[in-house]
Amino acid sequence: MPKKAKKSFQSVKGMADILPQSQPYWEYLRQCVHKTAQAYGFERIDTPIVEDEDLFKVSAGETSDIVQKQMYSFKSKGGDNLVLRPEGTAPIMRSYIEHGMLNLPQPLKLYYMGPFFRYEQPQGGRYRQFYQFGFEVLGEESPVVDAQLVNIFINIMKEVGFKNIEAQVNSIGCKECRPKFRSALVAYYKHNINKVCKDCRKRVKSNPLRVLDCKDEKCLQLKQRAPQTLDYLCDSCQRHFKYVLEYLDELEIPYALNPHLVRGLDYYTKTVFEFFLKEKDEAQPEGAEAPSFAVGGGGRFDALGDVIGNKKVFSAGMAGGMERIVYFMKKMEIKVPQGPQPHVFIAQLGDMGKKKSLKLFENLRSKGIRPVEFFGKDSIKSQLRIADKMGIKHTLILGQKEALDGNIILRDMESGIQELFPMDRIVDEIKKRLKK
Ligand code: AMP
Repeated sequence: MPKKAKKSFQSVKGMADILPQSQPYWEYLRQCVHKTAQAYGFERIDTPIVEDEDLFKVSAGETSDIVQKQMYSFKSKGGDNLVLRPEGTAPIMRSYIEHGMLNLPQPLKLYYMGPFFRYEQPQGGRYRQFYQFGFEVLGEESPVVDAQLVNIFINIMKEVGFKNIEAQVNSIGCKECRPKFRSALVAYYKHNINKVCKDCRKRVKSNPLRVLDCKDEKCLQLKQRAPQTLDYLCDSCQRHFKYVLEYLDELEIPYALNPHLVRGLDYYTKTVFEFFLKEKDEAQPEGAEAPSFAVGGGGRFDALGDVIGNKKVFSAGMAGGMERIVYFMKKMEIKVPQGPQPHVFIAQLGDMGKKKSLKLFENLRSKGIRPVEFFGKDSIKSQLRIADKMGIKHTLILGQKEALDGNIILRDMESGIQELFPMDRIVDEIKKRLKK
């Protein structure tokens, strides 16, 4: 019987491997996030990847794309309806209320980093598993927080090495004033219902604000004359937004007012913002393709605590899309630290040489020296070739004879000069040479 062809496995659609050559970019981005978080007094929080499905239904809203189309939901063996978390803010609010963090001195400044899952149509910069970092300030009503969050995001990006980050800001009002805007929007789109895309025809009824987010050419055209949130803000929202803009001016943060900016989730109130890398960054090489997607976003969510746990929690936050940021880091050729280089190569030959080399490796490592080895190889020539390729300056050679005599050869890879040392002096000798 012919043998059945074996299945060839690939990563799941929309979920990418982060390969070793990309790791230095990710590591550097993570470091910049940690450093900035510490500088602004944010504490790290990690919530589970799996949450109760209802957490997102009540927070993001039943009509949001996330809940309607994008959740990875499943039933546990115990019959609970669970999901892979699609976003980070609702879990943090859940945790904040669950652990009584309201009773701590407010505001609480928390940050997180990790994978999120949305069943989206994968395309450039859009994945089904993606990483975000996020910053949340919980328990503070002042508009100064909204401006600070914009500032922090921009500072993370600057720390990474980007020069021109564009912040777009808007206010979408609160539950007092948004219904009036919503009605005006529905009236406008109903009047023009034949001019919007198929999806938006439904959205006009179910989630009209989302029509403003649609990237379809027809909808983009129509949006230009659509009602603007700012014309419908109540006094309190207007005042709040005025202060946000004043603080941004004070911080000398360049921003663009985008009166049609909305966010895909129901829980946003008042300030919303989104970040883009400018089409032409100074660090961008001539002729490089213009970047086009948002690298982060956020806003105020004063109503979230109420829907999750019947608590009034004034709060605001932002999140950055790490795949997209790494994409731009590579595209704009941002230089990142390349992990620590090994100090010394250990080349070995013969049974005895190999055994002693194993010990030597541990000895060097415990003294803070970074050795590298290819103990599986048996030819000195091929090991020296590898050391050369790795650009390592010092190689230790331990053959059968040296091992028996208690000696070791130290080879300077640049000059090719080899010297014999007693084994018990070699660590000090390497230390001395590394200091030079
Ligand atoms: P959001 O949570 O939708 O406000 O998104 C915040 C940021 O996360 C966006 O600006 C993107 O940079 C990034 N992001 C959101 N969804 C995805 C996705 N499906 N794939 C990759 N990045 C994403």
